[in-house]
Amino acid sequence: MRITIAGAGAMGSRFGLMLHKGGNEVTLIDGWPEHVKAIKEHGLRANYNGEELTAHLSVELQSEISSKEKTDLIILFTKAMQLDKMLQDIKPLIDEHTKVLCLLNGIGHEDTIEKYVSKNNIFIGNTMWTAGLEGPGKAKLFGDGSVELQNLISGEEETAKKLAEILSESGLNAKYSNNIHYSIYRKACVNGTMNGLCTILDTNMAGLGETKPAHDMVVTIVNEFAAVAKFENVNLDIAEVVQHVETCFDPSTIGLHYPSMYQDLIKNNRLTEIDYINGAVSRKGKKYNVATPYCDFLTQLVHSKEELLKAK
Ligand code: NAD
Repeated sequence: MRITIAGAGAMGSRFGLMLHKGGNEVTLIDGWPEHVKAIKEHGLRANYNGEELTAHLSVELQSEISSKEKTDLIILFTKAMQLDKMLQDIKPLIDEHTKVLCLLNGIGHEDTIEKYVSKNNIFIGNTMWTAGLEGPGKAKLFGDGSVELQNLISGEEETAKKLAEILSESGLNAKYSNNIHYSIYRKACVNGTMNGLCTILDTNMAGLGETKPAHDMVVTIVNEFAAVAKFENVNLDIAEVVQHVETCFDPSTIGLHYPSMYQDLIKNNRLTEIDYINGAVSRKGKKYNVATPYCDFLTQLVHSKEELLKAK
């Protein structure tokens, strides 16, 4: 299958590499010139569960897309704030047959994708795979993961199942979900608590969990997510979601990790996805007339921190 990865940072590199190893014809498209140059010159290098691999994949800078050939499947893996520009730039690769799968963290990306792709070709999902970049052209890919995905509108169930099969044939462990909006909101609750709080409080997840207010903050934020989700016919099981979120505090599993937002902003001085996590809940709260004070405040705090650190 001809697959284009639009946004070939850490996660795009993981999916690109695994789909290439699985026998698909993969092209990476990315907006970071040094990264694209490194992959063109040396291939995509990866520490893949301790093994050093190099994959010679086709790669293009998103501002200089020359390929006129349409692609069968586009997997979107930009950061949320890069999504709209990426979709504008890859327009030449999309025709009425191209399927587009979005696996970004955050809520409501379908509203952006619908501006460029017809709804029947849009598939949304989320993933438990992780990935990191060690520098331009070099990924660090450890551990296992999974993918859940679903068609955006009814009638495309068989295609969604087929896409899950294609990903699974390359070891990506993908499943069709019949309630993807629930899974997306559930994962957004993890990001909407751990990411912003650890970033502002300058701690890892176990550190956050040891503070007395942590539980109340998690409960309040999850309640705000649940209150807006309800207006979209997603009824979160709040007690289960809180319990799920708080498994992140466990230092014997992932508690000692700093969430991705912390790494982006504090370590790498990059802008965050806060507007698509807590910020999305704030916007939806205004739309549905639901108060979301914790999400509003956390979004503002993270934006202030971005300004203070002059993040780019
Ligand atoms: P990423 O930051 O690695 O890559 C996103 C884009 O930023 C790419 O175009 C990349 O080339 C560019 N980029 C990366 N480092 C850069 C630098 N130093 N300078 C300039 N540009 C740079 O993002 P990601 O981790 O692949 O995440 C993509 C999406 O997947 C996000 O929505 C994220 O929340 C989600 N996600 C990530 C993980 C993870 O473990 N990384 C897990 C699940 C979901």
